[in-house]
Amino acid sequence: MGRILLLIVIVFVVIWLVRGLLVTRKRGAPPQAPGPASGDLVHCAHCGVLLPRGESRNAGGRDYCSEEHGRLGPREDR
Ligand SMILES: [Zn+2]
Repeated sequence: MGRILLLIVIVFVVIWLVRGLLVTRKRGAPPQAPGPASGDLVHCAHCGVLLPRGESRNAGGRDYCSEEHGRLGPREDR
């Protein structure tokens, strides 16, 4: 009878340890944005409109809202 009780205690300890490991892994996940389109917002260097980085066009190291604004480049009077 004592051996059965000991076995039950060991099983509970193993389950408790495995659950603890799983929770630690979930908490240890890096706090990054779930998708490339969400989170980071950038301003168009030409017209200043705010848009997700995933939808912006990059030209000359700057972000633009459209191909045309990327071609026109950053606005001079700002
Ligand atoms: Zn623009």
